[in-house]
Amino acid sequence: ERMKKMDNCIFCKIIAGDIPSVKIYEDENVYAFMDIMPLTKGHTLIVPKTHRALVYDLTSQEAADLFAVVPKIAAAIKETFEPAGMNLLNNNGAKAGQSVAHFHLHFIPRYGETDGFG
Ligand code: 5GP
Ligand code: ZN
Repeated sequence: ERMKKMDNCIFCKIIAGDIPSVKIYEDENVYAFMDIMPLTKGHTLIVPKTHRALVYDLTSQEAADLFAVVPKIAAAIKETFEPAGMNLLNNNGAKAGQSVAHFHLHFIPRYGETDGFG
């Protein structure tokens, strides 16, 4: 149950290795990878390995496992890309801009007013 996959989900395919990705971090519970259409340099996504579409669908344990590694991943992005700041963002639901129905948190490094995002 915990590793339940959705056959039609692009992020489940990435987690399974059926679609290639640039991996940033992986453990038993989560997978982090570079966004294929980065809003800024270093744009990264983290997902639970279990397919959950929306924030309401996450168990508290799944949320805890995911957020447990957020500081480590953010620090690695900061070290590698040296942004001035970083937005952590979740689009929850199609009407909120979610285009992939597998919960994901964006790390969007920011480089100043000219970085083209927001
Ligand atoms: P959303 O709009 O759902 O919040 O974010 C989905 C993100 O997934 C987008 O930033 C999009 O560029 C990224 N994305 C969509 N398909 C793929 C893919 O096949 N590989 C990777 N690495 N990122 C993807
Ligand atoms: Zn999925």
